[in-house]
Amino acid sequence: MAIVMTMDSLQEAQRQQPVRHPEKVHRRANPIQRKPAWLKVKAPTSKEYRDTKAIVRANNLHTVCEEAACPNIGECWEKHHATFLIMGDTCTRACAFCNITTGKPTALDPMEPGRTGLAVKQMGLEHVVVTSVDRDDLNDGGAQHFAQTVRAIRARNPNTTIEILTPDFCRKPNAVHAFADAVPDVFNHNLETVPRLYPTVRPGARYFGSLRLLADAKLHLTNVFTKSGIMVGLGETDEEVGQVMDDMRSADVDFITIGQYLQPSTHHAAIDRFVTPEQFDAYAEMAKGKGFLLVASSPLTRSSHHAGDDFARLKMARRKAAS
Ligand code: SF4
Repeated sequence: MAIVMTMDSLQEAQRQQPVRHPEKVHRRANPIQRKPAWLKVKAPTSKEYRDTKAIVRANNLHTVCEEAACPNIGECWEKHHATFLIMGDTCTRACAFCNITTGKPTALDPMEPGRTGLAVKQMGLEHVVVTSVDRDDLNDGGAQHFAQTVRAIRARNPNTTIEILTPDFCRKPNAVHAFADAVPDVFNHNLETVPRLYPTVRPGARYFGSLRLLADAKLHLTNVFTKSGIMVGLGETDEEVGQVMDDMRSADVDFITIGQYLQPSTHHAAIDRFVTPEQFDAYAEMAKGKGFLLVASSPLTRSSHHAGDDFARLKMARRKAAS
């Protein structure tokens, strides 16, 4: 029997959908600006893209690629490079740049680490990136569950290298100790923006808390590479970008990523400027001069974009620096 939806019932159905960003709906609307040519990407259509999607769905997992509406999804998923989003799809914070749903999350799923390990195997990943929502409702911010996911991936995929892109674990001082027997190959935590913009862009976080987490990871996790990133186009100045680079280096961060902020909806932070590819090159030169082992700086750079290739470069750069 065909089901016919009237306009009224359609509107009612839409009203009953959970609001993705309840905290943002009453904010002033910021019109979405047209993207310059260098930010245009093709819509994903390939069979490999659909295969990746099928594995994610079959294992009942979430990805940041979809939740954050990443512009690189076509390119990455074609190569089966998906970045898993663990601890659910609902975040306890409401950063002004982020497209992930804000709200009260459900309880942690103890089977999720195992399913993540299985999906990594099914995708045949040599290098996997795992990230998560912020879980300020949990005493440890989710650090133990994150570490359990690293163990579960390693148990099923002993040759896969693991990169984690963590939240700040509620700024708990000993969060990295949860990873003492589950040391990832790369520990990434993004500073996201310059400290002056934290109160409006990343209000639930503290700039120096995030720097401390990165410094702790380098100090306590043997042989780990540390990585951090910022978005530009949120209202920062070039001098402030340089200062963030210095702060990262003072926390001994190995790898910096810099990409263009893209506004997910009219209720998110407005784009202040589209940074040109030439300016991204200038940031890259500046970062190299400050001593990072590796730098990725381009309009479409994202933390997990080309993460496997970058990991190989990081290892090479460390070997070269040591010789
Ligand atoms: S850049 Fe990262 S988040 Fe974006 S599609 Fe690729 S793997 Fe996913």
